[in-house]
Amino acid sequence: MTQAERSLQLTNALRDAGVRITRQRAALLEVLSVADDHPDAIELHRRAEIASPGISLSTVYRTLTALEEQGVIHRHQFEGASARFEHANADHHDHMIDVETGEVVEFCSERIEKLQAELAKELGYEIVHHRMELYVRKTQN
Ligand SMILES: [Zn+2]
Repeated sequence: MTQAERSLQLTNALRDAGVRITRQRAALLEVLSVADDHPDAIELHRRAEIASPGISLSTVYRTLTALEEQGVIHRHQFEGASARFEHANADHHDHMIDVETGEVVEFCSERIEKLQAELAKELGYEIVHHRMELYVRKTQN
């Protein structure tokens, strides 16, 4: 999905939620559609403010909630950190969280995915959804 498609998807989702697309909200949607990291609301607010000075933090929070309810963004509540957001149409991946810097690193392991499915199957289940978070610290070398 291109950035333009992402932007359109977010805009449509907000419309579907009955939220008017103001210039401020459009700025936030733009910021969300280009973000390839996992910013929190404060950081999204900071970025949106560059394009649309005066956007309030509560507008950011309310818009994020509406988008999350529409299923077009994911909210990650990692331990010891404020909620982080990312658009929902990325390929499946899991996250490592650097406990010292708060940096979020994406990873996906075929081996782990397969192992999880096998473990669930052994216990008579199929996986509906999973979330894996590794809390990590950089090794010195
Ligand atoms: Zn991610």
